[in-house]
Amino acid sequence: MEKKVGFFKSIQFKLIIIYVLLIVIAMQIIGVYFIRQLEDQLVNNYTEMLDERANLLAYNIEQELVKPREDNTSLGIDINVLLREFFPVENSEAQVVDMNKVVLATSKAQNRHIVGQQSTEVRVKRALLGTKDTGFLRDPETGHRMRVVALPVKSEYETIGAIYIEASMEEIYDQMQQINNILAKGTAIAVAITAILVILIARTITGPIIDMKRQAQRMGKGDFTRQVQVYGRDEIGQLATSFNDLTFKLKEANASTEREKKKLSSVLSHMTDGVIATDHRGNIILMNKRAEQLLETTSEEAYSQPLPDVLRLSETFSANEIDDYSESILLDFSNEEQDFLLQASFSVIQKDNGPITGIITVLHDVTEREKIEQERREFVANVSHELRTPLTTMKSYLEALEDGAIEDIELASKFLNVTQNETERMIRLVNDLLQLSKIDSKDYQFVFEDVNFNQFIHNIIDRFEMMAKEKNIQFVRTIPLEVLYVKMDKDKITQVIDNIISNAMKYSPDGGNVSVQLLYQGNNLRLSISDEGVGIPRDSQIKIFDRFYRVDKARARSIGGTGLGLAIAKELVHAHRGEIWVESEYGKGTTIHFTLPYSTFKGGESNEV
Ligand code: ADP
Repeated sequence: MEKKVGFFKSIQFKLIIIYVLLIVIAMQIIGVYFIRQLEDQLVNNYTEMLDERANLLAYNIEQELVKPREDNTSLGIDINVLLREFFPVENSEAQVVDMNKVVLATSKAQNRHIVGQQSTEVRVKRALLGTKDTGFLRDPETGHRMRVVALPVKSEYETIGAIYIEASMEEIYDQMQQINNILAKGTAIAVAITAILVILIARTITGPIIDMKRQAQRMGKGDFTRQVQVYGRDEIGQLATSFNDLTFKLKEANASTEREKKKLSSVLSHMTDGVIATDHRGNIILMNKRAEQLLETTSEEAYSQPLPDVLRLSETFSANEIDDYSESILLDFSNEEQDFLLQASFSVIQKDNGPITGIITVLHDVTEREKIEQERREFVANVSHELRTPLTTMKSYLEALEDGAIEDIELASKFLNVTQNETERMIRLVNDLLQLSKIDSKDYQFVFEDVNFNQFIHNIIDRFEMMAKEKNIQFVRTIPLEVLYVKMDKDKITQVIDNIISNAMKYSPDGGNVSVQLLYQGNNLRLSISDEGVGIPRDSQIKIFDRFYRVDKARARSIGGTGLGLAIAKELVHAHRGEIWVESEYGKGTTIHFTLPYSTFKGGESNEV
């Protein structure tokens, strides 16, 4: 929130106060000094002027006094004339006194009555004694300040009279008062103008500062788009320039942090592994989408929770035992329905053996890997087991032969027959294994050619019909007349069909039917081979394509199966981009279907043979 600075707290007000005070103080000092000087000067000038006039008057009066005359009346008139002539000073009075202190004349008309009377002034007395006396007086009536001069009138070293002057100096003080007033007015005007100027000048200082303040507030809210205006090259201008630089750099820094953040978050969200970060106490601070999926939780739920709780490890780990986390552990979240294994790898964030600042946990779904590993282990166990059985059988028969059975020709040939069968079975098994391992290693070579599929399937069935006669098995063919060409490896598909048909024959009862049906389905052909045999229980149906899986182990083995036939068939059909599956009702019969994509076919009618 922007807080407005009150006027009395503002820089403007402070500047105004400072300037006004400066001006007032300056004017005061100037005023006091100037007025004192001026007053002194004026007073001096006045007294000098008075003294000069008095001296001039004294000289003329002396001339008049020493002048021989018949009567004293003319003297009074002459002196009056002199007074008027030499003493036209306003607001002042000049009296002429003779040796006996009698006032001969006065320049002030109102005081005419004192002419002829004796003067009582002390200064007059002193002047008659021959000493000039001057001084300042205050008029008791008006209160005016006056300059008083008493001057002896001498005629050749003898005092023959005196002049007494009282001159008001009020005019000077009035003038001083006026000058004081002018000064005061001037000061007031100066103060007013200064205040206005200061407000204007202060604006040039506070304007940019307010601008910068606003910009700083905007920056605080994450808006770096604006710049403050630079008004000049002074300190404030430089501050504004630096401020703009700072804005730019902050903007850059902010943008790069944003970029890094985005990068990190996009890396985290696109990672196929789950990532969890914790703080130094082991509480969750970050979790990516994948981790949420793997742990079936949400970031909001997991936030601030201890890592062991989120990984459901609480029984074995406590939150504070961060150091105890091993490099990686396996978490088993499997339930009855499906397996789910996670590998959690931990790495501790720590700077040069300093305190631990957090832990990064990477979660990896290892269900598939573990499953493959498990399958591999099972496979090895199965292979060993499959090989051991014929070997032990052979060993026991050979031992029996060695122990004397060889003497009995009939028994011996029977025993040798068994060992031969077992050897053949082992060879079949090893051949099947070799073929599977070749398919697995992906360097299996297929030789694709366009094959007339109808012809191809008829040929195979013809071949089996010969063998089927022993078991009295009938083949039922449902094969369309259209000639259908399929791009395939003839030998491999022959192997697939051989395996399926021989299984059908193996598990069929005497006199049963084996039907072979060919269908077109979109871009695929579908071959279905059905028998009327024992069938396969429901829960075993998807497993029959697994390696070494047999529904009835003992029986299958006695028939001579390796348990690898359908597994090989599945791999070969998949290599031709086809599918293979089973449909069966236990006790009633089994149908194995497989599809193959075909290239072209030529018209004709469906025909049951
Ligand atoms: P095998 O060499 O033992 O026949 P396969 O992989 O060909 O191995 O078959 C796997 C198992 O599937 C057999 O052991 C058998 O139990 C079952 N099976 C396959 N075909 C049929 C069928 N037509 N009828 C009944 N069971 C079958």
